[in-house]
Order: sequence, then structure tokens, then C-alpha cells
Amino acid sequence: MPRKLYIETYGCQMNVADSQLIAGSLAAVGYTATDTTADADVILVNTCAIRENAETRVWGRLGQLAQLKRERPELTLGVVGCMAQHIKDTIAARAPQVDLVVGPDAYRRLGDILEQDRDTPYIDVRLDKRETYEALDPSSDNGITAHLTIMRGCDKFCTFCIVPFVRGRERSVTRDEVLRAAHQLVADGVQEICLLGQTVNAWRDGEQEFADLLLALRELPGLQRVRFTSPHPADFSDRAIAALARGGNLMPALHLPLQSAADRVLERMNRGYTYAQFGDLVRRFRAAVPDLAITTDLIVGFPGETLAEYQQTLDCLDELRFDAAFMFLYSPRSGTKAYEWDDDVPAAEKTRRLEAVIARQEAISAEVNATWRGREVEVLVEGRAKRGNGWWGRTPQYKNCVFQVAPDPAPGDLVRVRVADSTAHTLLGAAV
Ligand code: SF4
Repeated sequence: MPRKLYIETYGCQMNVADSQLIAGSLAAVGYTATDTTADADVILVNTCAIRENAETRVWGRLGQLAQLKRERPELTLGVVGCMAQHIKDTIAARAPQVDLVVGPDAYRRLGDILEQDRDTPYIDVRLDKRETYEALDPSSDNGITAHLTIMRGCDKFCTFCIVPFVRGRERSVTRDEVLRAAHQLVADGVQEICLLGQTVNAWRDGEQEFADLLLALRELPGLQRVRFTSPHPADFSDRAIAALARGGNLMPALHLPLQSAADRVLERMNRGYTYAQFGDLVRRFRAAVPDLAITTDLIVGFPGETLAEYQQTLDCLDELRFDAAFMFLYSPRSGTKAYEWDDDVPAAEKTRRLEAVIARQEAISAEVNATWRGREVEVLVEGRAKRGNGWWGRTPQYKNCVFQVAPDPAPGDLVRVRVADSTAHTLLGAAV
């Protein structure tokens, strides 16, 4: 009888893609997916180490799953992903009910690992500087959009970030393999592919750079939309900007993490660019790519961030006018360089700074979205809107769009919508 596999995923889109990859590789050796823990033979918790609270949630969840394990000792409980790598030494002591601890470079071995009898937890967190999971096909969440990991690891060593330690050095999937996997996804009916990598635009294959890969995907018959996340601002070439400007299925949406607008903070973060260089990149992209939406990441309250430096970050929002931003207050992560520094911005002050940047950015997002009122956008339909009787999808700029249409469209249809109204997070309208 096939064994049933339940995977619970925490963290970023790369983890979601990794869970799909694990499910695909275990399906090949006889596991079928289940969406409940009650009938699972194997439960894998795919973890995130990026923030302390992500880890806290996983510890809590492992406590709940321990109860299941007590009731059904034959159940296999595994922790995979970045947290497995980060806390391999403590996980067995804090969560003895866990049978497996498997890091992000060992998923190919999971089928074999699950076959083995064991009395003590099995730990495999070796980093492998060549592992790119070639020949394992990604799958789509909804049959319409899919994530395709084109490079793994990171060489940047930002001082606040644990990723280079838990995911190892940068390595790229070959061009042929990316195109083969993309082809397969399109043959399976996928309309939109989002290329994934911790520094996705650092992708290389011999003389080929990220721009070449974008241009190759632009020519892939049947592929309606191509996106990518997350690029590093220091890794963009002029050719990559020119490639995105060619348009076609290359969508005008760019997530460009700034983190801080103060040069001294950027230097202490080891980000590899100044605010002026970042602003110049934004202006070059906007000049080249019509209607480009740019989103960003910001951290406030980094060790040593003065009030004036924080103010620069707040002020940059008015200057750069991002479409949206993911904003965080700094929290120290053990194992990173910044963890050794004095976390000297008081918690209440960090919260005040965060609330102010969120309020400012929300107002700007609302203003930017309001400029779409009266315009037509092409929406890739993903399903019914969560509220009301409308439909929901994304515009080329990756903006949420809720709209009325008759007769009902099918998920995966492209529908032209006239935007009538907007909020900071959504465009609202009706099919033309
Ligand atoms: S570029 Fe910096 S923030 Fe991004 S994954 Fe690498 S080290 Fe972390």
C-alpha cells in the first residue's frame, strides 16, 4: 500500500518550491500526498530559520505533532529545511520525538533515508556545493502558476542573514535544465513561471548570464508570463535591464530589496551598494521598462541605526515611491555577524520606527494604485475573489485585481479589466 506523506511548509517561496520538489521526488518512490496529518505515515515540517519567531512557531508545532507520535509510534516525523541546518545540534535534545533532521541539500536522499530502520534520530545536514536538484520536476500549486528554482544558496553574507550558512554557496541550475523544466511546466498547462533564487539574478551558466536566460524564456512558446524573485541590487547588468525592457512575457514587476537608505547602515549590513547606486538602478529600470512596479524590503532598528539614519529610510519612501514594501524591525539571529553586535535600538523605538514606515508606505501604495484608475489591465485569473461575488487575479505588475465579469471565466484565462477603484493592496474593476 502506498505510504502517505504530509508536508507542512514555513517561510519563503523557495521553501514552498522545495516542498513541491520533495513531494515530487517521494511520489516517484511510492508516496502519495495527503493534506491531513491524521492519515499520514510520514510528516515533514519544512522549516524557516530567517527569523526567531519562525523558529518559535515550529517548536510549538513540533510539540503538537509529538502528541500524534505518542499515539502512533510508527509515524515518521521529520524536520527539513533551513532550521534543520541551523539547529541540528539542539533539535534532537529539544524534540526527541523527531525521527529525521534533513537539511536543504539532502532532499534527494530522503527516499532512502525513509527506508532505513533507526533507533536514534537521523541527521543529514551536509551542504553540497553542487546540488541543484536537476532532473527533479517542479510542480504547480494551482495548475496556473509555478515556481522554478534556478539557483540555490547565497555568497553575499549580509550581516543580519542566516541564509548563506544554512543554504550554502551560490550555484546555478544549467540553462538547458531550466528550459527543460519550464517546457515541462508549460506542457502541464502552467501559464506563469516565477524564477526563484536567493540572489536570482546572479544566475550563470558559463558565458550565459541572467539576461540570456530571460531572453530564452521570452521565446518559449505558450509561456504567458515570466517573473523572478529575489534579485540582488548589486547583481544587475545593463543587459538584464535591457532584457526586461523587451517585454513580451517578461512581466514589468521587480522586487528590489533596499533594506536601508543610510549608507553607513548599508555598509554595516554588507549589502554591497550605496543608496545613490540603488536609486540610480531604480531610475534606470523605470526609464527602460514602461509601467514597471517596484517593491522592496526594509529593515528598521538595525544595530547602531541612529534617528537620522532611520529618517533617511523614511524619507526615501517619498523619493522612490515603491508600489509596496515588506517592512520589518530588526531581530538578531544567532549565527550571523550582526548577532555579535549590541542590539542597541530599544524595542519600543524599533516598533515606533516600523509603524511610521508602514503608515507612510501604505499611503504611497494607495496613491500609486490610484494612478491605475481608468486604465485597462490584463489579469491572469486565479479564482473567485475571497469576498463578494467577483473574480481574482494578478496584473502584469503583480497587483491583486478583483473584478466583475460575465460569463464566468476559467482560472488561467487572461481577461482585460478596466480599473474603477483601488486600495493600497488591490485594484478593483470590471471586465471590458
Ligand atoms: S543577499 Fe543577503 S539577505 Fe539575501 S539571502 Fe543573501 S545574505 Fe541573505
